[in-house]
Amino acid sequence: MGRIHILSENVANKIAAGEVVERPASVVKELLENSLDAGSNRIKIHVEAGGKKLIQITDDGCGMVRDDALLAFERHATSKIKNAEDLLTIATLGFRGEALPSIASVSRLRLETRAPEEASGTVVEINGGKIFKVEEAGLPAGTSITIRDLFFNIPARKKFLKAESTELSHIASLVTHYAMAHPGKHFELHSATNAMLVAPPVSDHSQRVYQVFGKEVLDQMIPVAALQPLARIGLPQPPPWKREQDEEEQFPVDPGEVRLHGFVSKPEIQKLNRNSIFLFVNGRLIRDRSIQHALTEAYRNIIPPTVFPVVLLFLELPAAEVDVNVHPSKTEVRFRQQGIVHDFVRDSVRAVLMKAQPVPQFAVEIHAHPTASPSLTPGAQPGTMEAAAAWRSFYAPVEAPGFALQQPPVPQVNERLQFSGGILVEANAAVSLARVPLATEVDGCTPPVEDEPEAPSELGLSLGTLKPLGQIRESFILAVNHEGLWIIDQHVAHERVLFEKVLKQRAAQRVESQRMLMPLVVELTPAQQAVFAEIAEELAHNGFEAEPFGSRSIAVKIAPAGVDATAVEHMLHELLDQLSREEQQLNLEKVRSRIAASIACHAAIKVNMPLEQNKMEWLLAELAKTEFPMSCPHGRPVVLRYSMKDIQKAFKRI
Ligand code: ADP
Ligand code: MG
Repeated sequence: MGRIHILSENVANKIAAGEVVERPASVVKELLENSLDAGSNRIKIHVEAGGKKLIQITDDGCGMVRDDALLAFERHATSKIKNAEDLLTIATLGFRGEALPSIASVSRLRLETRAPEEASGTVVEINGGKIFKVEEAGLPAGTSITIRDLFFNIPARKKFLKAESTELSHIASLVTHYAMAHPGKHFELHSATNAMLVAPPVSDHSQRVYQVFGKEVLDQMIPVAALQPLARIGLPQPPPWKREQDEEEQFPVDPGEVRLHGFVSKPEIQKLNRNSIFLFVNGRLIRDRSIQHALTEAYRNIIPPTVFPVVLLFLELPAAEVDVNVHPSKTEVRFRQQGIVHDFVRDSVRAVLMKAQPVPQFAVEIHAHPTASPSLTPGAQPGTMEAAAAWRSFYAPVEAPGFALQQPPVPQVNERLQFSGGILVEANAAVSLARVPLATEVDGCTPPVEDEPEAPSELGLSLGTLKPLGQIRESFILAVNHEGLWIIDQHVAHERVLFEKVLKQRAAQRVESQRMLMPLVVELTPAQQAVFAEIAEELAHNGFEAEPFGSRSIAVKIAPAGVDATAVEHMLHELLDQLSREEQQLNLEKVRSRIAASIACHAAIKVNMPLEQNKMEWLLAELAKTEFPMSCPHGRPVVLRYSMKDIQKAFKRI
């Protein structure tokens, strides 16, 4: 890394301004980023009292020579950029030259550093921004920075810090995720005497997930890897005769490529907020609305719209394609070609989800006690993380105790059944669609999950071989094949079949419909009217014929086939309400899929309905033909499988 210099006022003024030291975790973030920028391979962090009392970070990076060790505490002093153009192609995590001076002004700081090529190192001590000691010392190569008593001179800020445990969990989450991003480096985090994370180098990201979170979590995730060459689509370009020579250099002919890799959770893992979505862009942990949206789109109709997946994604693209100078704490970026990045993430994630089609499993624990304590980091390497379980909850599914087979053997209608893997299935799904979220956070434990032995064959093929045995309470179909015992929710299975059918018919412009005996007058609220006006044409393409009737009502003359006349009004209200609550602007694809989901839901076979053998066979065969047979359009699971191995295990045969 080059020598430190102070940025000119002109460049400094172009840098997104703002406070970076907000809390102990933000100090750790800045120092950690500095260590990574310094090319360190070993980074050790020690905190006390959630970082309020002490934060110490030691690295084996490039260190600083004496002059630099002093310059580093000046505002806008950095070795990472020089001029305004450099701001367009930032390849380091830092570039603002503000972290060290800001941290030094609100704490008691001690810096020990030595560049490997120097014989001795430098110690600098600063109290509340005032340098009071600079001395030469024999030191190991690298840098160690110790921050004591954060905000000791700003009592008002200190008062607003959260509890130690909260601050510590932020720090732990941050360090863990940077460790995820750099599997080839050694990371350690200690809180007082407690080793929270010890992660020696491993060869790739999946090994890191395994090392830090254990096999159980790795098994819940689906790997993603995709690449797309970038074309400079949509970027304003001067005409060829106006292009300057150096412009060619600035925008090389090959615009490079965008790469995505990482992990996304299987559909049965459902979190109540976005806290388990981690996105790195060129090694930088960021938040980004457009990528959040791309993920929501990827999981559309796979998980319910009110829950969120667990995501750990690394997006890499040429530095010139990302503007990181957007936010003072560098947690937001701007993509030059946002639309392309959005669609690339959506399509890549969607593709792996469609391919994986994992089937929810029954828990294997035949003696499972609902309160059984969670197993700690199964499969974790010795010495990995003692406290892994504490924040494994970032990755754990919406936790539910294992499903015990000796619990009520016959499901009570209206009762929620809890299956391993955090799936909650409502027995009378038909009437409960509006009652999402289905899942509730229970506690920090993850039920033990066993290895899935048989390589899961393609779900469609497996379903095609099912032989239905009968129904449980006229709601769930029991079926078998050589893989084991299956339970199929008849309503949601039919919903999935109809959903795909309606979408196909819509694409071919021939959604089946039926004429009502008498026009059905449906009264609409103003919000519903507004949505109706917007989607009337699309409704018409989906087998509805409705026209305004008075100022506040519509008269429906034709409705989609299969939907009972009595259900039409309810269905329209539900659909219009749902669309009026949408935060994002409605797009045609979303409207189409909502309408199809709504028709499917109201036309599908209900629960509490006896089915003849041939009807069950027909339903399973139709389900087998669907593109995504494992969850309904609202994201509920459709089938559960009790595998042969689990059955044998339960009978203590293996
Ligand atoms: P920035 O990271 O934006 O350049 P900082 O205030 O965080 O600004 O750091 C100032 C400079 O101090 C850096 O540009 C870098 O040259 C040097 N520096 C900071 N931390 C380290 C470290 N751990 N190892 C080597 N050099 C460092
Ligand atoms: Mg920095």
